[in-house]
Amino acid sequence: MANELYNQMAAFIDTKKDWMKERRQDFHKYAEAGWHEVRTCSIIADHLVKLGYEKILMGKECFDADARMGLPDQEELDFIYQRALDEGAILPYAEKFKDGFTSVIAILETGKPGPIIGLRQDIDALGVVECLDPEIHRPAREGFASIHPGEMHACGHDGHATIGMTVAETLMKYKDQLCGTVKIVFQPAEEGVRGARGIAYSGILDDVEYMIGVHMSPLPEGSDAKLQFNHSLNMANAKWDVFLTGKACHAASPENGNNAMLAMATIVQAIYGIPRASVGDARINVGQVTAGSGRNVVCDRVKMVMELRGLNQPSLDYLVPYAKRIIEHAAAMHGCTAEIKEMGSTPCVYLDTTDFTKELFDLADRLGFAPLGIKEGNGSEDFSYMAQRVQQHGGQSCFFRCLSPFSAPGHAVTYDIQEEYLANGAKFFCAAVTHLMGLTN
Ligand SMILES: [Zn+2]
Ligand SMILES: [Zn+2]
Repeated sequence: MANELYNQMAAFIDTKKDWMKERRQDFHKYAEAGWHEVRTCSIIADHLVKLGYEKILMGKECFDADARMGLPDQEELDFIYQRALDEGAILPYAEKFKDGFTSVIAILETGKPGPIIGLRQDIDALGVVECLDPEIHRPAREGFASIHPGEMHACGHDGHATIGMTVAETLMKYKDQLCGTVKIVFQPAEEGVRGARGIAYSGILDDVEYMIGVHMSPLPEGSDAKLQFNHSLNMANAKWDVFLTGKACHAASPENGNNAMLAMATIVQAIYGIPRASVGDARINVGQVTAGSGRNVVCDRVKMVMELRGLNQPSLDYLVPYAKRIIEHAAAMHGCTAEIKEMGSTPCVYLDTTDFTKELFDLADRLGFAPLGIKEGNGSEDFSYMAQRVQQHGGQSCFFRCLSPFSAPGHAVTYDIQEEYLANGAKFFCAAVTHLMGLTN
């Protein structure tokens, strides 16, 4: 079988390189952190409408609302909505993305029998203040550094959004030659692993047979590889904000109060002392504590920002109830109450429960992407919620890396990618889609 269709698509994507560069730089400049992505989503929605997509899910249609995690407060959501409008968010679409419903899912229905394929790209920036020194940072030098202090695309999701938009355009252009259905998911709030669960739990992906995700990764020096694959997304984690409430009183008569500071101190000591389990390695961190109001006042309010990680699912499943018991009982011990707010989480998912990853790796190899290998994923990625959901319904999943030279490691204030490498990500998505439809071998 010739790969004529794929070759045409790849050639078309090459003609989009200037557009991709411009698109990515605009997203970079107007960086929107998790649940802020109103402007970003409105631009994606407008693009999809103009391409002729008939079925586009926007905002609330994309979520199980209660399964979203780590949302900003209403005041912040109102502020960023107005900011998005001031900065060119496109109406009427922008309205759909108000109040933390910042997702778009394009559904391409070819009308011909074939596989149902899901493609996922995350679109959020993260809480980093971008370097504005033109001497050492290209976005500052070329005028596209973030204009939002404390929000920066330092993980390449501006590139992912651009890849998704390019794939959407390419698939639409060649729609008549395709079969089956493709769902292109633009996901918010990956940073802090907050956004994917709400989409996965909505059930929108339950019929997906093949779910594929992408992330930028650094190209090793001297390598001509274009891609790399992960066979697992290996760190399960739970991110919590814990609120302890006691009763304030004068420090001279502490018996009149309930000391939330003491509850917090007990919790911190006890939680780090959870006995190690044989099921797997784990991490515990209480990273931030805000407490108290004065020297002579018994503390009545504490906020603890913490996370638990397991290098496999059983190790996290062991930690979570243990930590909850400690928090509740240590609070009660000091006459206080505790509330645990889930700010983010991700399950540990093995992607290669089948040979699907290997199948796509081999495809990439045959098509000249010179993939680096299939490796263990490092860190956490909430794509795992989508992969898990699809696997639970009998589908398969794959996560690949689009390689580009990096100016600095991910999440650094001088992080930058090179836009010309984004085309490789878009091409591979199209290669995988046409392969799964039986059109590319
Ligand atoms: Zn990141
Ligand atoms: Zn990322």
